[in-house]
Amino acid sequence: MTEILGEQKVIGVKLDRPYNGKDTLSLDGIFIAIGGIPHSELARKLGVELNEKGEIKIDRSSRTNIEGVYAAGDVADTEFKQAITGVAEGVHAAYQAYKYVNENEFIYTRQTI
Ligand SMILES: Cc1cc2nc3c(=O)[nH]c(=O)nc-3n(C[C@H](O)[C@H](O)[C@H](O)COP(=O)(O)OP(=O)(O)OC[C@H]3O[C@@H](n4cnc5c(N)ncnc54)[C@H](O)[C@@H]3O)c2cc1C
Repeated sequence: MTEILGEQKVIGVKLDRPYNGKDTLSLDGIFIAIGGIPHSELARKLGVELNEKGEIKIDRSSRTNIEGVYAAGDVADTEFKQAITGVAEGVHAAYQAYKYVNENEFIYTRQTI
């Protein structure tokens, strides 16, 4: 799409390539999907590896490149981003974190980032 057509009201759009032989498409309205920017700054500061979109790279066990750090949902590099998948990934990541805490002994330190 190269242009929204209409004065007081949307009547269509000009297309960047023909659709059904026409370079305009009549419409009553438009929903502009703005995309999403992952809020992964905290993870980046921790040294967690991100992909080119800024999403946290995870494996099938929700692990990041940093031991003991897990990620889930929209901020992770999973392709399908919906509420239900985010919730399921969150449960999975929480379970993996629970297992990690139970299987390891820790000396707790406080660090300001
Ligand atoms: C316009 C739109 C429509 C959508 N429609 C649907 C739909 O119809 N059905 C559907 O299933 N999904 C829909 N989705 C997708 C769905 O909203 C997401 O997949 C889901 O909310 C992801 O959940 P999440 O917990 O991973 O992330 P989020 O819901 O984004 O939650 C992350 C939270 O973390 C907070 N946060 C970020 N950084 C920090 C920080 N440093 N410290 C503390 N808190 C922080 C944020 O403020 C936010 O509250 C839609 C998304 C959009 C944008």
